[in-house]
Amino acid sequence: MDISFQRVSFAYAPNTPFEKKALHNIEAEIPSGSYTAVIGHTGSGKSTLLLHLNGLLKPTDGTVRIGDTLITSETKGKALRDVRRNVGIVFQFPEHQLFEETVEKDIMFGPLNFGIPAEEARARAHELIEMLGLPADVADKSPFELSGGQMRRVAIAGVLAFKPSVLILDEPTAGLDPQGRREIMDLFDRFHREEGLTTILVTHSMEDAARYAEHVIVMHEGHAVLSGSPESVLTNAEELARYRLELPRTVRFQRDFERLVGRELPYAALTEEQ
Ligand code: ADP
Repeated sequence: MDISFQRVSFAYAPNTPFEKKALHNIEAEIPSGSYTAVIGHTGSGKSTLLLHLNGLLKPTDGTVRIGDTLITSETKGKALRDVRRNVGIVFQFPEHQLFEETVEKDIMFGPLNFGIPAEEARARAHELIEMLGLPADVADKSPFELSGGQMRRVAIAGVLAFKPSVLILDEPTAGLDPQGRREIMDLFDRFHREEGLTTILVTHSMEDAARYAEHVIVMHEGHAVLSGSPESVLTNAEELARYRLELPRTVRFQRDFERLVGRELPYAALTEEQ
């Protein structure tokens, strides 16, 4: 499902003394089936941008297009429901939203809510338990008996269970240790590739952006200031420094970056190792 932002601006509490402009004239294209990373400092507008993709926020000006659905400040009703059906969001600390008696019921909640028959929803829940590397016997347990990492996987399964076409990940690995982070990020990568999910990742990690994304958008003070391939955006140290961003110190040379993105760059973007 293609997504585009066409001159999208957004203000919180518009026309009040508390008005806060959070997005300014955003223009962006996210092709169907692609993996996009959105990076930028806290407060740069990343979450506000994403909340436009499942109808939680509507633009104050401009248009968001998701597949065939157009969302403007006037959009109501069916269009917003269609968008919610197609776009799954994994929020930060998604395990805080678990609430059912059993893991199976928790994963089935979304699909049942969208009218998927119970048997199909149950089958999908069990398939996801396996795909996400959870032990088969978790299905009948209370989600609250599980470890933190397992709870997060259950919450992620709950989003994948209704088979969204677009998956939005808002810092999905916050609070996990490096191994847990890598495992979860690799899972999303697999879903992106195997199920053709259009994936949009909001992250503070320049390494994750380089490793997983095909396209990077840099947000700064409500503006989309840079966008392009990871190699063109993330190796542009001078431009990134304007937005107080930099690659980690472990990625100093061209070879380090090529290892991270898993391919050779067609040009010399960073200094060659001496
Ligand atoms: P990020 O996700 O990059 O941290 P946000 O989209 O959360 O950035 O915030 C963008 C700007 O909007 C910030 O200045 C923030 O303070 C402001 N903001 C976010 N949520 C609200 C809200 N509910 N009411 C008013 N201002 C908000």
